[in-house]
Amino acid sequence: MKSLVKTELGFGNLEVQEKAVPSPGADQVKIEVKYAGICGSDIHTYEGHYKVAVPVTLGHEFSGEVVEVGENVTEFKVGDRVTSETTFYICGECEYCQSGDYNLCNHRKGLGSQQDGGFAKYLIARKESVHHLPEHVDYQSAAMTEPLACTYHAVAKTEINEGDVVLVTGPGPIGLLAAQVAKSHGATVIITGLTNDKVRLDKAKEVGIDYTVNTQEDDLQEVVNQLTNGYGVDVVLECSGAVPAAKQALGLLRKKGQYAQVGLFANAEVPFDLEKIIQKEIRVVGSRSQKPADWEPSLALMNEGKVNAKALVTHVYDITQWDEAYNAIKSGEAIKVLLTPAD
Ligand SMILES: [Zn+2]
Ligand SMILES: [Zn+2]
Repeated sequence: MKSLVKTELGFGNLEVQEKAVPSPGADQVKIEVKYAGICGSDIHTYEGHYKVAVPVTLGHEFSGEVVEVGENVTEFKVGDRVTSETTFYICGECEYCQSGDYNLCNHRKGLGSQQDGGFAKYLIARKESVHHLPEHVDYQSAAMTEPLACTYHAVAKTEINEGDVVLVTGPGPIGLLAAQVAKSHGATVIITGLTNDKVRLDKAKEVGIDYTVNTQEDDLQEVVNQLTNGYGVDVVLECSGAVPAAKQALGLLRKKGQYAQVGLFANAEVPFDLEKIIQKEIRVVGSRSQKPADWEPSLALMNEGKVNAKALVTHVYDITQWDEAYNAIKSGEAIKVLLTPAD
């Protein structure tokens, strides 16, 4: 089967290769991939910024149909519509594994980075990681369960109440999903971007985000003041990984506000005003990836129509068209790009 493989570390080194069709072990499920999303981390991997266990088939956000199950698998049968967590291996013994925080296990191995992932016709997942798709979740939406689960995870680390004002910085797929999750808690949500994020800010309006602000043209401070009587926003979900956005957001938080860092910065160490955190008694929290408990609620949000993931899909290519997909993402014209398998 054709697989899109990162063959060596460094820039590029991504090739369509012919690989043997895998067979499931006793506790595993073989999935025929329908769609697999390109994540920001795949772009970083392509460009050589992230280390993966080369050679490996990329793709950790996917949906598909069960085509074979191992002898110990009773939870799934051939024909089931599914998605899978990226977790392929965990130690099972550390404190984080014991509490279901697999995203924090030091020995975790993930599909599409340490184990062959979804940029291929078939992949093997462990049965514990696989989830059935609810009735109203189509395959394209389902391919976004993983990024949605990441945003669900981030929002769950904050407390958002009905009527709160939430500021989401960065209108990429993660920001657009995080904003919808925040809205599902009854918050009024502002999402910000720059002039070249126009397509994304328009998409935010389309999926029902309350306020979209181009910080290069509009006065964000003014918008926040009007909505909060000058107090500042209750919660910031920083999804841009851009230092100016993070700094501005910190300044717009109310006293006792909460700040969640979701986006990754290009350089890990950033200047950050800790004085504001002290004086305003701000709670800061980081959010890494997702864990099992985030998956069923994420699927439910899509099933109930509270999150529209499908609307974020702007381009679909097959895995042999990586270059086109990459260019669509780099040019800023795409929001979410999905890949399909190639025969
Ligand atoms: Zn991802
Ligand atoms: Zn562990």
